[in-house]
Amino acid sequence: MIQKPKGTRDILPQESYKWQCIENKVKDLFQNYGFKEIRVPVFENTELFQRGVGETTDVVQKEMYTFNDKGGRSITLRPEGTAGVVRAYIENGMASMPSPVKLWYNMAMYRYENVQKGRLREFHQIGAEVIGTNSYMSDVETILMANRIFEILNIPNINLEINSIGCPECRKKYQEALKEYIRPNLEEYCETCKTRFEKNPLRILDCKEKRCKELNSGAPIILDYLCEECKTHFENVKNMLNKLNIKYQVEPGIVRGLDYYTKTVFEFVSKDEGYTVLAGGRYDGLIEELDGQSTPAIGFAMGVERLVEIYEKYNPNTIPEKDMDLYIAYIGDEANILATKLVEDLRKENIYVEKDVTGKSLKAQFKYANKQNAKYCITIGEEEVKSNKVKIKKMDTGEEKEISLEIENIISSIK
Ligand code: ATP
Ligand code: MG
Repeated sequence: MIQKPKGTRDILPQESYKWQCIENKVKDLFQNYGFKEIRVPVFENTELFQRGVGETTDVVQKEMYTFNDKGGRSITLRPEGTAGVVRAYIENGMASMPSPVKLWYNMAMYRYENVQKGRLREFHQIGAEVIGTNSYMSDVETILMANRIFEILNIPNINLEINSIGCPECRKKYQEALKEYIRPNLEEYCETCKTRFEKNPLRILDCKEKRCKELNSGAPIILDYLCEECKTHFENVKNMLNKLNIKYQVEPGIVRGLDYYTKTVFEFVSKDEGYTVLAGGRYDGLIEELDGQSTPAIGFAMGVERLVEIYEKYNPNTIPEKDMDLYIAYIGDEANILATKLVEDLRKENIYVEKDVTGKSLKAQFKYANKQNAKYCITIGEEEVKSNKVKIKKMDTGEEKEISLEIENIISSIK
């Protein structure tokens, strides 16, 4: 038997309706904030992620699905959404649209991860990007929208953690201080961190190795090194969140896993599961890094698998897709044709109606209707074809009523 690749999942009907429910609610929410959907390719030129996400990140160093296509191009399955969205923004001249440009997406992502709880190799992210403003107000609105997602999905026990990682200017000073802190113990850090030390010491703070985490515990914090502008920006964000009564915690340890972040970064962490469900931040340098005009932006992405897992816990009674309104059982060739016409006409009226297409016996048809929880059942035989009259049966009570076979009669009997 061929099995699915490690780190992938099948989303079966008994789960997919929950996904749809979440997706529909989030989509409506985004719309009310003025966001429009964007869809970008599953694969991109590898260079996009090398430059966008950053050479020294875990994603680029260890996790990308990269291969040469038959034309010899280096191709990578997208590990995250922002780089592709920004590429599309630049390539399609979206800078000329009214600013800010507000986009959302719901896409599968691919990362060669150590598979464990909440960590897959194919997973899904719903994300949002606001491109074109450096105002703290857009940080606040983005955080408000993210916060709202958990409210509308009835998910409690989520902590909002925020931090500022400054701009390249403040980071220069900070990196020196950080290196000074790390240098005496550098030999004790993991091999990856050793290579990060010169190239990108900030990345060391995001290392998942236990020993590195311990060594990092007394490291200087970037908040103490912010330049005036970054400091004011962060103060403004916090003040406004306070005024709006949004609870948050400043978490100086958050540096995020992707290199493009600047200034405000944030994570929504599930207290129950202990993992981050939604993460994001400002990325004021990315558009220029990808050869666009220097344009500030902010965004977030949330892991849909993680979101569904928590959603299920707090919403055990999500309504499944609608039950079958009507089953039309038949016996004989003419009845088969009449039943087929009827179900087609009823479906045009948006009725969920089925008839047998497998050649089942009448008894087996009834059994199927029962198993599928059909609300009503009509049986058509030779007699009924001639008289154009049928009995319609309410399945839960067994109550029967005779009607003539016009669409309007059927519809009014099942309402
Ligand atoms: P970490 O440091 O935990 O690896 P990250 O920096 O790689 O996180 P992002 O790329 O910002 O995380 O991803 C945002 C969200 O997407 C995560 O908070 C999580 O909900 C989800 N996510 C990321 N990677 C995976 C994965 N491999 N499997 C399932 N969900 C994921
Ligand atoms: Mg990761």
